[in-house]
Amino acid sequence: MSKQPHIVVVGAGAFGGWAALFLRRQGGGARVTLVDAWGPGNSRASSGGETRVIRATYGPRAVYTRMAARALTLWKEHETRWHRQVYHGIGVLWLVESDDQYEKAALPILRDAHVTFEELQGAEVARRFPQINCEQVRWAILEKDGGYLTARRACAAVLEGFLAEGGEYRQLAVQAPVQPRAGELSAVTLSDGSTLTADRFVFACGPWLGALFPEVVGERVKPTRQEVFFFGTPSGDRRFTEEALPVWADHGARFMYGIPGNEWRGFKVADDTRGPLFDPTNGERTPTPAALQIARDYIAYRFPGLKGAPLLESRVCQYEQSPDEHFIIDRHPEAANAWLVGGGSGHGFKHGPAVGELVARLVLSGAAPDEQFRLSRFAR
Ligand SMILES: Cc1cc2nc3c(=O)[nH]c(=O)nc-3n(C[C@H](O)[C@H](O)[C@H](O)COP(=O)(O)OP(=O)(O)OC[C@H]3O[C@@H](n4cnc5c(N)ncnc54)[C@H](O)[C@@H]3O)c2cc1C
Repeated sequence: MSKQPHIVVVGAGAFGGWAALFLRRQGGGARVTLVDAWGPGNSRASSGGETRVIRATYGPRAVYTRMAARALTLWKEHETRWHRQVYHGIGVLWLVESDDQYEKAALPILRDAHVTFEELQGAEVARRFPQINCEQVRWAILEKDGGYLTARRACAAVLEGFLAEGGEYRQLAVQAPVQPRAGELSAVTLSDGSTLTADRFVFACGPWLGALFPEVVGERVKPTRQEVFFFGTPSGDRRFTEEALPVWADHGARFMYGIPGNEWRGFKVADDTRGPLFDPTNGERTPTPAALQIARDYIAYRFPGLKGAPLLESRVCQYEQSPDEHFIIDRHPEAANAWLVGGGSGHGFKHGPAVGELVARLVLSGAAPDEQFRLSRFAR
């Protein structure tokens, strides 16, 4: 009988956690060890926020609409399996003002992927959501199936599920840089000085992926500083809770979006504009007055009932930005047994289960990764 392979997954965020779970489940008894420097959904990780949006509208990028639809099915299946809520299906409202190319391109793709949505005229949006200033809103997409995920709690749930299915977890850092020798990677060095050997490796290290592989990935994954604010709603006022408002996305000149409610943590407002480079290990996570002012001005305009609302909490996080905002899911060019997974680029969390399922299939079958996720696209 042949010995079962040992597969090491480095990084227990949205990508690595799910990849480890599917590798364990579908690996026919493969031994799977998940390693993380600070823990699943830790405060430095990109997956470490309270909440993340799940939506299927992706402009012309059909691959992510299909992936989001698959991921949603898997999120729901796992909620049932684990008896815990991580998905809040409150819908996602896309507000369209003058430029509607992105939303227009999404419509046929949403239909093809059987995503349930409504197209609303501006007057209808204003009627249904009187708490929104719809002055310039011409039309909207209301995704019925979207909503939000409780991010760091979901990462912890994935780890628990992985352990329950026989996976192993170690909280240690893999030393950078990682360098394959003679066409393969046989071991990595851990922060306690020990060596971890395996037959196959998956590196899903989020904003640290470039530091682990400076030559092969390097600046192709840039951590950018992003700030998120949670404002207090008036007491007893339900207009700004998830009972009355879906997640909203304002894809105008500046892409602002937010999540009402957030399990009572406040009214979340975020600016999707890519911020300056950020050090995910040592960067101070103090919000800037300028970003807070942008968020305040925005809610005063779009949600006049929240003008002057107090700031309850804030978070500084980072995107792990690839040059074209497509994910990286590929073999290391010098080691066929090492896989690199990342480049979530501000939209990766929702896709975690679908990416995990895909990575497990590739690693276990040896199939070729999709062209659009390969590193070679950057050389062209
Ligand atoms: C403010 C903000 C808002 C976002 N909003 C959304 C949203 O609404 N919807 C959405 O879908 N996505 C969103 N995203 C993007 C999404 O959160 C990320 O794309 C996704 O979480 C990335 O997951 P990951 O597993 O690649 O990285 P991470 O979550 O960063 O995980 C990487 C893990 O690797 C570990 N690690 C790193 N180096 C080492 C090492 N050397 N040894 C051991 N372990 C190591 C880290 O500790 C970490 O846990 C947002 C991101 C931010 C910052």
